Amino acid sequence: MKCPRCQSSVHPEQTSCPACGFSATLLHCHLGNQWVRLERITDAAHCLRLEDTRRVEVILDDFERSFPQAFFAVYLGTLPNNLNVAELGFWLLNQGAFNTHSVSRRNDYGMVLVVDPAAQTACITLGYAIEACFSPKIITRMMQTVGSHLRKGAFGMAIEASCIRAGEVLRKHARYMQWQPEAAVVADGPSDIGLQPLRGGHRSASRPLADYPAPRT
Ligand SMILES: [Zn+2]
Repeated sequence: MKCPRCQSSVHPEQTSCPACGFSATLLHCHLGNQWVRLERITDAAHCLRLEDTRRVEVILDDFERSFPQAFFAVYLGTLPNNLNVAELGFWLLNQGAFNTHSVSRRNDYGMVLVVDPAAQTACITLGYAIEACFSPKIITRMMQTVGSHLRKGAFGMAIEASCIRAGEVLRKHARYMQWQPEAAVVADGPSDIGLQPLRGGHRSASRPLADYPAPRT
């Protein structure tokens, strides 16, 4: 992952950034280490109009339907001087309990878009399990798009564009994963995939060609 303060690479096992000394413990001094309820949309800066929120809700619904284990959360607010957007994103992914009524969504699969309209800064923070899907080039392009909308004051469009793009990236990655032979689960029998075999057994209707006996000569 990237250090939220200086953007140096930090290994997940390292507890603090080797370059600048940033650590989650430092953030706990400002923000505490309690769990917070992370809503899909927190608009502390009142940037979104009602119709923006409605449109964004639809996009977020689509995202959550497509990726039941993942979430996309948005925070819009003016941050204190000692806290930047990347640090808050990092803290939210560590301390936020995503507010959902359906399945439990793990923060490893979460992403948070933090926008500070007063400082005119924005950042997308990705959970450990999905950050490898997003190359630096993809992230740069996403942030350019977000920036172009934010400069026009189009907060809703910025959220929509980043959520849709994130969905495209994850979808492409999911397809890629499916076709890796080593990723395929080999089931030994129907019980392994939750099916009970019929007594005595019907023969499988379609067997691999190699299983058929060689024609007798
Ligand atoms: Zn650092």
